[in-house]
Amino acid sequence: MKRALDLYTDSPETLARVRTAIDMGVSRHYSFPVATPGMGPYCRIGKSFGWPREWDDIWVNTKDWTVYAYAAKDTSRIRGCCLNHAVTILVLDDDTTIGLRNRILHEILHAEGLDADGMEKNLTEWLPWWLEWLFWRTLDRFRNVWEWQYYRHLIRGIRSND
Ligand SMILES: [Zn+2]
Repeated sequence: MKRALDLYTDSPETLARVRTAIDMGVSRHYSFPVATPGMGPYCRIGKSFGWPREWDDIWVNTKDWTVYAYAAKDTSRIRGCCLNHAVTILVLDDDTTIGLRNRILHEILHAEGLDADGMEKNLTEWLPWWLEWLFWRTLDRFRNVWEWQYYRHLIRGIRSND
């Protein structure tokens, strides 16, 4: 059964972009009831938190099993994070739909407690050995494609019917 994550966004424009991205495969594994606009379950990371500089003024979702996506300008910052089971997605002007789709699933996999960062480290676990040369030769150009394969492998591990 699909897990449902309430989706919060900062604007109808962000919602439209996120929905397009989700429809490219994420919705096969998760459903996203849109939360009523209004006060969201997020807090702002201030300089006083003592976190690394790239987190300054980032809005971070704090409500488990929800996704908060908002438009952001500064590309030098983090683009997504997961706090416990609460997912935050920053949507940049230059994000491709595929890139955004992968970012969303990546952070949800963190929320599931899965090793979303371990694509290269866990290579032998999900990629046939005879494709390893292709992986390393094409990783720079087709990172999104490989990431998607790896993420689907992780999902299969927790949902045997997917
Ligand atoms: Zn990660």
